[in-house]
Amino acid sequence: MSLDRRARSGLPTIRRLPMNTNPTSSAPSGPAPSTTAVPAPSSPAIPPGAAAASASASALGLAPSGGRARVLSGMRPTGALHLGHYHGALKSWVQLQSTHDCFFFVADWHALTTHYEHREGLEQSVYDMVVDWLAAGIDPEQATLFIQSRMPEHAELFTLLAMSTPSSWLERMPSYKDAVAENRELATFGFLGYPLLQAADILIYKAAFVPVGEDQAPHVEVTREVARRFNHLYAPLLPEPQALLSDTARLPGLDGRKMSKTYGNAIAMRDAPEVVEQKVRQMPTDPQRVRRHDPGEPTRCPVWPLHQVYTDEATRQWAADGCRSAGIGCLDCKQPLIEAIQREQAPWRARAEELLADPKKVHWIVEVGTERARAVARKTLREVRSAIGLAY
Ligand code: SF4
Repeated sequence: MSLDRRARSGLPTIRRLPMNTNPTSSAPSGPAPSTTAVPAPSSPAIPPGAAAASASASALGLAPSGGRARVLSGMRPTGALHLGHYHGALKSWVQLQSTHDCFFFVADWHALTTHYEHREGLEQSVYDMVVDWLAAGIDPEQATLFIQSRMPEHAELFTLLAMSTPSSWLERMPSYKDAVAENRELATFGFLGYPLLQAADILIYKAAFVPVGEDQAPHVEVTREVARRFNHLYAPLLPEPQALLSDTARLPGLDGRKMSKTYGNAIAMRDAPEVVEQKVRQMPTDPQRVRRHDPGEPTRCPVWPLHQVYTDEATRQWAADGCRSAGIGCLDCKQPLIEAIQREQAPWRARAEELLADPKKVHWIVEVGTERARAVARKTLREVRSAIGLAY
């Protein structure tokens, strides 16, 4: 549904997040500078283990918003991330952390809703993903990072919300209907209920905004409905969040389909420069440009969307003119992309190398974030229990 139609229909307007689409300035050069007033753990002084993290968590208290609206977003742990993850989500997270009170979490329970048989490598995937978040510029001194499965509070709120949520609200979710139609093995209670678990993930932090792709917007809508129902039945405790859609371009994979490890068409955020070069050089091009002297059409070519993300106007004009006149070859056309991607990745790889050499630091960042998130979640749960009459 378009935003205009949404407004006319009376549904809440989805906010769009303005993004800097200048390709020359899109790559963060490491963690964003700590210029905000958000108190945070002193990450350089890393205690030796998780016990120390738990012991000091109460001293950390809540992550104060400093008057900034709270944002909640999560990612399923898929291991090392690719450029589609960066341009589709992480880039906006990096921007949001300096303007909002951001809570970013590893949605490992959500991963189990669809891949409940695949437990091998889950822990590795969790920490590989966190390394990529940090390498991309997520700053634990500005944002709160945590792991969903370390927060039983989410499960308790999910259970309490489930009592009053009509099952039809979940059965009508497009993601449920489509996935079950394609794969009957997803006809599980966990998969049916995952939008409600998402609602609990969001509402327990009283988030104002939830960055999502268009396909996830219905889940924010159901979260709003769940909050309204709770507020009507018990007490006006749970704010209705708004979906926050970014204007970042969707980055397709090497074959023009959605970038995905499953399709084997991804460029990983930490792919080595020579791997990037090889992958881009091997990309298919306009199928009607068979020989070097055949004119092509950029809009038929899977390489063109990469230009729209990675190169400036002048380079795109050069590529389009050269393609249509057969003045340049496809390898010429791809070279500025290869260089732009390698430039973008260089600071990520450097930062990731540091983190991989110091895994305790990554664990500590997650421990501290988890305890900060827990303090917020427990406060909401106390209010919810009391409103329902369970404060005994
Ligand atoms: S010149 Fe560029 S846009 Fe044209 S077909 Fe080759 S790679 Fe694609």
